[in-house]
Amino acid sequence: MIIRVSELSPEGLDVRDARQFSTPAFTDPEWRLDGVDLHVQPDGDDVTVQGTIEATVPLACGRCLESLPTHVNVLVDVRLTPRPAARDDLELGADDLDTDFYANDELDLGALIQTETTLALPMKPLCREDCRGLCPACGMNRNLTPCECREQKPDPRLAVLSQWSARRKG
Ligand SMILES: [Zn+2]
Ligand SMILES: [Zn+2]
Repeated sequence: MIIRVSELSPEGLDVRDARQFSTPAFTDPEWRLDGVDLHVQPDGDDVTVQGTIEATVPLACGRCLESLPTHVNVLVDVRLTPRPAARDDLELGADDLDTDFYANDELDLGALIQTETTLALPMKPLCREDCRGLCPACGMNRNLTPCECREQKPDPRLAVLSQWSARRKG
């Protein structure tokens, strides 16, 4: 959804319906935009975008790799400024992390939604807190298939014990 900044009215624009997007907001068709409530407000040459995005993204569990549809509620508070012509003009401080750019009078709201949603995704999602993950030896999903790998690995403390008891018997 491309917004022409010069055509924004002084009151701004409310986007409250995902169906307002002629093209899907997400490039990945498996990502689903569940809800959007954004206010696009011109502020001089700048534009602010504030509100919320709800989306469901098919992630994979960081331990067992099972598919894990993840629902995210994204709080959006972004200021966009016209992209400077030359790179030398670019002086962004640490305070300006939430500053983005638009160019040629065009604000791509779909791209903004995709970026903000991506930033909100968990780095290492887990299907459940105590997910047992994949066995590093045989690759089995230990939530589904208990494997014997751990038990087969000789425990050095047990080895010492068995030597000790063998000596006692002998
Ligand atoms: Zn898992
Ligand atoms: Zn195993």
